[in-house]
Amino acid sequence: MRIEEVASTTKAQRVATHTHIKGLGLQEDGTALALAAGFVGQEQSREACGVVVDMIRAKKMAGRALLLAGAPGTGKTALALGVAQELGTKVPFCPMVGSEVYSSEVKKTEVLMEHFRRAIGLRIKENKEVYEGEVTELTPEETENQAGGYGKVISHVVIGLKTVRGVKQLKLDPTIYDSLQKERVNAGDVIYIEANSGAVKRVGRCDAYATEFDLEAEEYVPLPKGDVHKKKEIVQDVTLHDLDAANAKPQGGQDIMSVMGQMLKQKKTEITDKLRQEINKVVNRYIDQGVAELVPGVLFIDEVHMLDIECFTYLNRALESSLAPIVIFATNRGICQIRGTDMMAPHGVPVDLLDRLVIIRTLPYTLEEIVQILAIRAQVEGIAIDEEGLAFMGELGESTTLRHVVQLLTPSMMLAKTNGRDAVSKGDLEELASLFHDAKYSAKLLAEQADKYIT
Ligand code: ATP
Repeated sequence: MRIEEVASTTKAQRVATHTHIKGLGLQEDGTALALAAGFVGQEQSREACGVVVDMIRAKKMAGRALLLAGAPGTGKTALALGVAQELGTKVPFCPMVGSEVYSSEVKKTEVLMEHFRRAIGLRIKENKEVYEGEVTELTPEETENQAGGYGKVISHVVIGLKTVRGVKQLKLDPTIYDSLQKERVNAGDVIYIEANSGAVKRVGRCDAYATEFDLEAEEYVPLPKGDVHKKKEIVQDVTLHDLDAANAKPQGGQDIMSVMGQMLKQKKTEITDKLRQEINKVVNRYIDQGVAELVPGVLFIDEVHMLDIECFTYLNRALESSLAPIVIFATNRGICQIRGTDMMAPHGVPVDLLDRLVIIRTLPYTLEEIVQILAIRAQVEGIAIDEEGLAFMGELGESTTLRHVVQLLTPSMMLAKTNGRDAVSKGDLEELASLFHDAKYSAKLLAEQADKYIT
């Protein structure tokens, strides 16, 4: 079962603009290259983050956290993501903004707890019997009206357009789908469906088939010839939050497969403390048995000054827990009020938490660096832009913010297309710059024309 197929809980959008960041781009000796792993400049902070990664690996960060301090758009999110990637490819990265804790429905500490658990991964290793038969393709016509046979489960949908070792698969009707629910099949299972009763039996696994089959495109890579049944180690990566959410209404047994199996059913129910404790119990048992391994990830909390004293109290405690991820805070504030109190403190963070922090500063980018970052993003997003255009955007970035100009890339391409061109030119950008205001300009405008607005 490929958990990614059902992991609707990852905050993919938040990290979408950072896809080019592949690590911290450090050399063996820990020094930063000017451009590496998608990272441009900010060498000192990257090197400092590298030291933190070493501390994490040496288990010297327990009970402590990292604070990135610097102006908006100086790559704090990118650095936090880089740290997560340096720790391993399947290490969870969970970004959130301090203000997310304020909701009328959910307690602040509940929001924090959920994010903590989104940032803790669990790697489950299982030895499974894997089906690796020969697969040949059938036309849709050939598969229609088949009475019974073998099938393959893709995610929680069952399709049947294939032959497995000459045994025809079939298109499934709703009654068979019901049997599948009863039988608790998982993506990747090879099943046998009885012709008359529609009863379903699990007969093996065929993981490559599950992952390589693309239902939308109807394209797949046939499996190589091999043993029909083979023992294979299957590794699944999930987060504790995935397990909480999937088991919010626990049904059935407490074994790892039924805990995992719940993930195939989509529903929204409240996750209670009791449920989390239950999940922890199962998880701890499997860790003790060597079936599962904890993968502490990175929880990134931007705008830490938005948290209040209640949150900080909770965080102090949570950082001490044995089930804690690496917490990276970010702030662009100097001395300000600690929310929920009338005390002032650096970055609005109480001193007892401040004491636990390793602080790294990020510096503004040079024009050249901004242009380089823009060029990388344009390439990743498949946007053609000429040099003159890039230089113009760079200057705009210098006077506004990096984030603002990166956000202009997509609309600039749309504008170029409307104007009948495949590449963005300076003209498009000038037009855009007059259409969209950056936050600073907008604030200035509001201040200048305050009398025209209702206050
Ligand atoms: P911050 O958290 O400090 O505001 P950020 O990492 O969120 O900064 P954005 O302001 O969102 O950065 O930056 C816009 C874009 O620039 C993002 O796509 C980000 O990944 C990228 N970026 C920022 N710094 C760098 C860098 N040093 N090298 C490469 N890309 C960067």
